Amino acid sequence: MMHPWVDAHGHLCSPRLSQKQQNMAIERALHSGCAFFIQGGIEPADLSAQRRLAARYPGRVGLALGLHPEWVAAATYEQVQAALAEFERELETAQDISCLGELGLHFGREGGGPGELRQEQVFRQALTLIRDAGRPEAIILHGVRAQARMLAIWDEVFTQPRAGMVHSYSGSFEGAKEWLKRGLLISPSPGVARSGYQTLKKAMARLPLESLTFESDCPDQSPVRDTDPQALGEPTDVLAVARAVAVLRGLDPEQGLALLLSQSSKNLARIGIRGLPPATP
Ligand SMILES: [Zn+2]
Repeated sequence: MMHPWVDAHGHLCSPRLSQKQQNMAIERALHSGCAFFIQGGIEPADLSAQRRLAARYPGRVGLALGLHPEWVAAATYEQVQAALAEFERELETAQDISCLGELGLHFGREGGGPGELRQEQVFRQALTLIRDAGRPEAIILHGVRAQARMLAIWDEVFTQPRAGMVHSYSGSFEGAKEWLKRGLLISPSPGVARSGYQTLKKAMARLPLESLTFESDCPDQSPVRDTDPQALGEPTDVLAVARAVAVLRGLDPEQGLALLLSQSSKNLARIGIRGLPPATP
């Protein structure tokens, strides 16, 4: 079976991209063999933009209902309450969602503070709403400097394995295993295709292929950031990410990239991402 390649996480509706840039990025990705684009949800207005994009590219865009922790930290109390109410309403009614998230914690270098407490409250509340609504879709997690707290809150809400993925993961092999035990896939930070990221690179050489998926996280990350700090990422960058992991695993870059992206699509189907293009014989 041939599994069409997928960009497991990106933000094509980022305000940083014009409609022309969106179109060009999608056309380049389709040309490179990447057939489906799973989005990360930020807040209600972003979901509306995802729906408009999906209407222009039917069958290509996986919609995500989320409340991104950085958005939560920056919004007013009233905005967060309104977004949570909208999140709950979508959980009751939405039929067009591929996955749930981003949800998670994005902590600063200092640690602590009211923004972080609020992120924890919203993360716990959103997971609880998902559980209580009985939504089966995979949950997309976003975590920065907060793995222990995220695991603790996850375990408060879910006592059984629950399908999902940790996007832009940059931690260790042991840290990744904690999420695998709970039923989630690991999607490495696109930084794995750049210099540095040694802990992540060691993990990527060892984790089972059945536990991995790959993403561009466009436009926020780009494999050429080392030489061009302003570069905007796009979905086709997922090929460079998978190629870098293939090399870390001692595979031929091009054969390995095809193997890894095909396995990634299988893994995404296994965790129940909706709307994926069908596999062909
Ligand atoms: Zn994201």
